[in-house]
Amino acid sequence: MRKAGRHFLQIPGPSAVPDRILSAIGQQTIDHRGPNFAKVGLRALEGMKSIFKTDEHVFIYPASGTGAWEAALVNTLSPGDRVLMFETGHFATLWKKLAEKLGLKAEFIEGDWRGGANPDQIEAYLADDKSHEIKAVCVVHNETSTGSVSPIAEVRKAIDSARHPALFMVDTISGLASLDYRHDEWGVDVTVSGSQKGLMLPPGLSFNAASAKAMDANKNAKLQRSYWDWADMVGPNKTGYFPYTPGTNLLYGLNEAIDMLHEEGLDNVFARHARHGAAARAAVRTWGLDVLCATQGQESGVLTAVKLPEGHSADAFRATTLEHYDISFGNGLSKVADKVFRIGHLGDFNDLMLLATLAGAEMGLKQAGVPHATGGVQEAMTHLS
Ligand SMILES: *Cc1c(COP(=O)(O)O)cnc(C)c1O
Repeated sequence: MRKAGRHFLQIPGPSAVPDRILSAIGQQTIDHRGPNFAKVGLRALEGMKSIFKTDEHVFIYPASGTGAWEAALVNTLSPGDRVLMFETGHFATLWKKLAEKLGLKAEFIEGDWRGGANPDQIEAYLADDKSHEIKAVCVVHNETSTGSVSPIAEVRKAIDSARHPALFMVDTISGLASLDYRHDEWGVDVTVSGSQKGLMLPPGLSFNAASAKAMDANKNAKLQRSYWDWADMVGPNKTGYFPYTPGTNLLYGLNEAIDMLHEEGLDNVFARHARHGAAARAAVRTWGLDVLCATQGQESGVLTAVKLPEGHSADAFRATTLEHYDISFGNGLSKVADKVFRIGHLGDFNDLMLLATLAGAEMGLKQAGVPHATGGVQEAMTHLS
């Protein structure tokens, strides 16, 4: 049956694609080796530097974020290298499994999925590695499965305090363009991101921002790579081209997204998300439910993961809200499957969209018979006005 009005896609990525970006993507595909393409390519490659806050090279792949995860590792590491990762949640776990499949020795500092990476634990772990066998430290900036943010600048300081030479790699697939991010200032060697979260695009593009140290590591890295090889991309990228067919139409959209982010101002974009995160958490607390992130100051402005009371199914709740209010919330992943639902408040999003989203959740709690107090939406309104 036809559902009137618009669907609310409130999963924490893909996020809703604004009309301006859809129209940009809808332009004719052009010859990616022809003279007009260079402008498109250069604009995207240069523009992404301003989003990552880097003067270093940004690589763009026609792939989902997982591809850029793999690219970061195969371009800089060799078989058997030890890699230190922090268990912030489901995405950190997936990145670790990927590293293991590539033949790396990935080691976890275990976490409880209720906060970001802990710099003190990372420093202690690295200080024990006297012979510097650990070649990379990998941290997820915005852990999309839990709604927790890792303190990236502090992790950099921890690596420096331990006087450890490991490369520092950060997944900000869901953080970039929603949360403050500074590739150069924070001394990150490889930053990984993707198109379908804060960048407001459909899925299909992903990124590596690489430091000079990472580019150096690339020369001696022995892991097998072909499609992902930075070395093949640097040359063509200089003039705005790619070694194989790029995602031409998504690059049109990316250039539009970069313009939109700068028109609003990155600091305003970050403040908007922080404010929406705070309002969402105020609503959740009013309902008497718990936010999954339990570490004060690390709650995400990208999404809020909400724990349902023991014995209540988050998936049944999500089925109810989809059926009755045509809204999609994110599901709980692996360890927290069916225990949490995730409210996405990322991308092209404003106050009334947040209030409608929270109203969908509050009505859904009632409809699904989940015990809660009313007034969450009212509390969010108070918070926003
Ligand atoms: C979405 C996401 C990924 C996976 O990206 P895909 O585009 O699904 O391959 C990895 N890490 C984080 C933190 C994410 O949010």
